[in-house]
Amino acid sequence: MDKCSFCGRTKKEANILIAGLEGHICDHCIEQAYSIMNEELGSKKNPAFDTINLLKPIEIKNFLDQYVIGQDMAKKIISVAVYNHYKRLMQKPDAEDIEIEKSNIILVGETGTGKTLLARTVAKMLHVPFTIVDATVLTEAGYVGEDIESLLTRLLQNADYDVKAAEKGIVFIDEIDKIARKGDNPSITRDVSGEGVQQGLLKLLEGSIVNVPPQGGRKHPEQKMIPVDTKNILFICGGAFEGIEKRIAQRLNTQIVGYGASKIRDRVDKDNLLQYIAPQDLRAFGLIPEIIGRLPILTHLDPLDRKALRAILTEPRNALVKQYIKLFKMDNIDLTFAEGVLDYIVDKAIEFKLGARGLRSICETIMLDAMFDMPSEETNELEITLDYASHKLERVNLKMLKVS
Ligand code: ADP
Repeated sequence: MDKCSFCGRTKKEANILIAGLEGHICDHCIEQAYSIMNEELGSKKNPAFDTINLLKPIEIKNFLDQYVIGQDMAKKIISVAVYNHYKRLMQKPDAEDIEIEKSNIILVGETGTGKTLLARTVAKMLHVPFTIVDATVLTEAGYVGEDIESLLTRLLQNADYDVKAAEKGIVFIDEIDKIARKGDNPSITRDVSGEGVQQGLLKLLEGSIVNVPPQGGRKHPEQKMIPVDTKNILFICGGAFEGIEKRIAQRLNTQIVGYGASKIRDRVDKDNLLQYIAPQDLRAFGLIPEIIGRLPILTHLDPLDRKALRAILTEPRNALVKQYIKLFKMDNIDLTFAEGVLDYIVDKAIEFKLGARGLRSICETIMLDAMFDMPSEETNELEITLDYASHKLERVNLKMLKVS
């Protein structure tokens, strides 16, 4: 009689019995084998860090280049920082007792220049749990906002509550500039944001064991907290720090005095002052020195010019244009863009100051009708001409497309 070669269940006892060359397997054993396989593969997905095949900084940068246009300085600095961070995780205690310190990063750049994209791409490359959190939800902590610890809830969730994996993850804290102390601003009567939140954040950045609410927020007071050690979590903070150029300019002016000053002053690129950013500028902006000290790697992102925006449309691995071509391909339609259309899209993004994010909204507006109608039509080709694109855009108020 046929029976399972693994557990011995007969055909009657099993729901399904699958025959192989020299034996059989039942549904119970298939399920069990499947769960063993998942468990084994699962632990391989988050290998111990001494077995991780860590890319060298140049390789990390090459990877970032595939997704992010320009921003060479930021890419270089991040590549080194990430490499050192993971070397730090692998370090074995040695006789000299030299401990490599943690290298949290702060990125300063206008919104939509690729800060989040950089952090996201790094996480993709490293296969570690990653989350983006917004510092603005903390601005009213103690009032109606979230507790600082809840920043880590999403990281835990993204790591499927595998605490060990989460403890080696990356947290991107966006809009860090929004928790700057607003002390010098007389119109603000109570500083619910500012220093208190920064002090709380400090605890996370410097590395301590924090109790994280697994469901986040305060809506579930009964939940059991999960202790998470933040010592090895890499924090990447990003912010636009609007107006910080003024402080940089002031500092540069006072620093550059004496012999040859005017020559140096002439060399300062006034259109991109962010490239000269230094920790004291962050301090002048309202970040407390302790926080700045815990974000030792400071770098800037360049504003995106016409050339960069044009490249963003077509060059990154998952560039917008490539995505639309793929979408239409799935309906057997060959999508092409006539000459000048992409430049036109870039022109509009610049004209209405929509930045890189706006490129997407412009493309969506142009493509919407085609995406709606074409799948039901018998056509196999679609060329977006300049006339077609401008006609579609004319109907909307481009100012409304402004994303942030
Ligand atoms: P930020 O975090 O600086 O506000 P994002 O990284 O979220 O900006 O960028 C918004 C979107 O714009 C990205 O998802 C991406 O599509 C595009 N983008 C921005 N900067 C770049 C860049 N340097 N290279 C490629 N795409 C970019």
